Amino acid sequence: MSLSRRDFLRYGMAAASTAVASGAIDLSPVEAAATSLRIKEAKAFPGVCPYCAVGCAQLIYVKDGKIVDIEGDPDAPHTEGALCPKGSSTYQLSLNERRITKCLYRAPGATTWEEKPLDWMMAEIAQRVKKTRDASFVEKVRVGARDVTVNRCEGIAWLGSSVLDNEENYLIAKLARGLGLVNLENSARLCHSATVPALGATFGRGAMTTNLIDVQHADVIMPTSNWAECHPVSYKWVMKAKERGAKIIHVDPRFTRTSATADIWVPIRSGTNIVFFGGLIRYAIESKKYFHDYVVAYTNASLVLDPQFKTPTDLDGLFSGFNPAIRSYDQSTWKFQLEADGYPKKDPTLRDPNCVFQRLRRQYSRYTPEMVERVCGIPKELFLKVADIYCSASGPDKTATVSYALQLNQSTNGVQQIRALCMLQLILGNIGRPGGGVVALRGHSNVQGATDFGTLYHMLPGYPAAPLQGPHPTLTDYLEKTTPKGGYWVNNPKFVVSLLKAWWGPAATTANDYAYDYLPKREKADAYSHQHFVVGMYEKKVKGFICMGQNPAVDSPNAKMARQALRNLEWMVVVDLFETDTAAVWKEPGIDPKSSQVEVFYIPGAPAAEKDGSITNTMRMAQWHVRAVEPPGDARSDAAFIVDVGTRLKALYAGSKARRDRPVLDLVWDYQPQGPKQEPNMELVLKECNGYTTEDLTDKDGAPLYKKGEPLKTFGHLRDDGSTACGNWIYTGIYPEEGKNMALRREKPKAGDYLGHGWGFAWPANRRIIYNRASADPSGKPWSEKKKLIWWDAEAKKWVGNDVPDFSPTMAPDAPRAKDGPFKGVSGTDAFIMNPHGLGQFFASIVDGPFPEHYEPFESPTQNLLSKVQTNPLAKVYNIGDLNKLGTPDRYPYILTTYRLTEHHAAGMSRHVPWLSELFFGHFAEIGPEMAKELGIRNGDMVTVETPRAKIKVRALVTERIKPFMINDKKVYQVGIPWHWGYQGVMQSARGDVTNDLVASLGDPTTFIQESKALLCNVRKEA
Ligand code: SF4
Repeated sequence: MSLSRRDFLRYGMAAASTAVASGAIDLSPVEAAATSLRIKEAKAFPGVCPYCAVGCAQLIYVKDGKIVDIEGDPDAPHTEGALCPKGSSTYQLSLNERRITKCLYRAPGATTWEEKPLDWMMAEIAQRVKKTRDASFVEKVRVGARDVTVNRCEGIAWLGSSVLDNEENYLIAKLARGLGLVNLENSARLCHSATVPALGATFGRGAMTTNLIDVQHADVIMPTSNWAECHPVSYKWVMKAKERGAKIIHVDPRFTRTSATADIWVPIRSGTNIVFFGGLIRYAIESKKYFHDYVVAYTNASLVLDPQFKTPTDLDGLFSGFNPAIRSYDQSTWKFQLEADGYPKKDPTLRDPNCVFQRLRRQYSRYTPEMVERVCGIPKELFLKVADIYCSASGPDKTATVSYALQLNQSTNGVQQIRALCMLQLILGNIGRPGGGVVALRGHSNVQGATDFGTLYHMLPGYPAAPLQGPHPTLTDYLEKTTPKGGYWVNNPKFVVSLLKAWWGPAATTANDYAYDYLPKREKADAYSHQHFVVGMYEKKVKGFICMGQNPAVDSPNAKMARQALRNLEWMVVVDLFETDTAAVWKEPGIDPKSSQVEVFYIPGAPAAEKDGSITNTMRMAQWHVRAVEPPGDARSDAAFIVDVGTRLKALYAGSKARRDRPVLDLVWDYQPQGPKQEPNMELVLKECNGYTTEDLTDKDGAPLYKKGEPLKTFGHLRDDGSTACGNWIYTGIYPEEGKNMALRREKPKAGDYLGHGWGFAWPANRRIIYNRASADPSGKPWSEKKKLIWWDAEAKKWVGNDVPDFSPTMAPDAPRAKDGPFKGVSGTDAFIMNPHGLGQFFASIVDGPFPEHYEPFESPTQNLLSKVQTNPLAKVYNIGDLNKLGTPDRYPYILTTYRLTEHHAAGMSRHVPWLSELFFGHFAEIGPEMAKELGIRNGDMVTVETPRAKIKVRALVTERIKPFMINDKKVYQVGIPWHWGYQGVMQSARGDVTNDLVASLGDPTTFIQESKALLCNVRKEA
């Protein structure tokens, strides 16, 4: 980049004063003048910002083989050329003195790194993987009366990354599963894993329902995270809506720059969002502000439940079926009454006391404004004002958008907090419609893609479940138990068989159930997540670790324990741009390096500007970036590392006659590495993800459809007979013809196409707002002219409009429920096609309850006022003795919440970038003036913040932004601490104590995401 450090600050400050109040800096005008000479005759390559999941499109200018500038791409419909401070400093990810360009090796017990040749490192790594795999591999286990092939290796963990590309995550998922690895995760587990089951159970897919650009059409917007500072560029769409007259209600424990732009700031105690959303649901019902016709037509509100089903209103905090001995629910009463045809009984009047609507009403009858005030700390009058404004944005002419991020996710009630928000949107009719929707704001560039591509222990690419040894011993069992009887998931066998064909090719035959045995089978659901395997490392059960683009030494909950866990490993591979805290864990300050025997292999990686691949932003849109320059020295893409290690492992196993080695040997693994760095051909990977035919295909009338080997145009062409191979069915269509990469498209939006369908590729099938059938009424007409999106064209006999229909394109609104075929069970009014009954689900099967119920955080200043059940009875508490002690309010009287900053990111990148690191003076804690006065703390003083797990020292930032709460009539102070710091970093201000040391080892029962937003702490001034 052409700007000096001083210029960067100066131009950034100037631009910030005129740009949106979000912290997004539109540098383009000032830079144009400053850089015109430098970029003259430079070649521009398409890039994507590698920091957050707004996915700001970039142009990377290259001259003489060197990057000379990186700017926002002004043609991008979702970002319009803007970049925030992180995106504006991307240049320093490539050109940075701290960048490591040689392979480094740390021998067990050594006190220094040694430089080693890349080839030696790769050979040694492959040997370590093989040795540990062979020693810890389990081929068969006895389950009941049968031997089940489980092909499972528990001795190695692999952490992929939500800053790696889609194709890289796909390669990790494929190779790891081929090796039998079950400890497989990416950073989505710790940030947004609760999103997937919450949105999935409610709407059918675990993904943001709308498009950032469409936020401008909302009448009310309710961010429940610090949207303006954490996802700055996308906040322009909120501000555009505000210019149009939209109201903004910011719900957050802290006053932030988002609050500063809002009409109303609603301070809420961390961990109580279910009470707030439940209170709004109650208000919508009691004030009759819900969208009645939408609710009747498109949700399961009218379905009638078994009268034996009981809610926490009936059972003082528990649902029917709770077994305290195993802290689990028997869900046999969680069901509908059925008609003779097997479909649930319906009451369109919504009056049946057992219909979902009435049970929902009863469930939230306790969530009164008074209860909201006592539990959340939101004054009753403020709550009623907000409820009136938000719930009025409903009906044919109005819509509201809600956003969320980690405040809702990172909780022992994470899934249910997000579910409650989704249900609020559903009851107001705000899904599938312009200006409506749930905006899931992801912090890492490719959280969505890494999740889609299955670098998570519990699922395969495209969201089929990773099989379990008990219920899924054979392919038949697996498909029977994981394929519903109605909704688009009836096509599950096509997705799964095509995936097996993509992975094991000719070795996957009809005779061997398409090599289903090769897939590792999980022992149980309660295993293998990030927290599980870190504990496994601590206990020396997990011995080897591959870590790519992540920094678990700082990012993990209970991070001090996690660092000891890393030091307990036998070997560890780190692939990254810089010497991260994880890579340097053996020489952490205060630790004697000789005390750790972990053998560390550091492989230098490449940022997005130096490799080919796609990144899927938070609105499901994949954008391809191009290798603009070669990575320096031994650095190369993560894909090159994965393909190389896979190739070497196949060579090491060559000649083996053991059945357990067949999954490695038969893995299809030819990505044509080329050039001096042996970079794989990433379009080949993309084609495999998209899907292709394994033989000539004809249509149902016998007409030729495809030649063997051609890419598939649509997932509608997938088959379950082995004639198609497909690495990730939801991405089918991204590479519909040889050489045609839809993710690489950068077409300026055409007139009338505000959603920008010509830019990148949004899964599924380039649909930009999913569930958009709900934008029309049951007869197929738009609910109103103002809020129209797609509608039924009776003459043309198809759905038309401003988006790709998320529906059968020719299914008429009056079509009866399909008896067979790909849309089995779906009728012409079933807008939520992925769900078994085609309906948005208020009532849905989640392990800790079909409706969200409030339980207190494990560390709470109060008793639960809603019931006698204090904390989530199904939550995971990791059994690591004193390392996981919990605090009580008598000793730890302050609420602690963690958060992040605009200028910093996950701990592995921004603290190595000088332009970003110097923007902060160092690590700090925000404390309110009243609390500071009581403790004798002045602004700038050093303070110790303590939980039962750890203490950290930070500087006090005394600010009016932090307010106390009145909880159950008692004043409680809170403390806010950003979590970016660690012991590695470019300058003193970039180094500091690790906030996540304070966090306990707890997990939501569905996803095992940690509770890091609502803790208790003590604070004292340092002498
Ligand atoms: S960090 Fe996010 S908002 Fe900032 S430039 Fe990058 S993608 Fe855009």
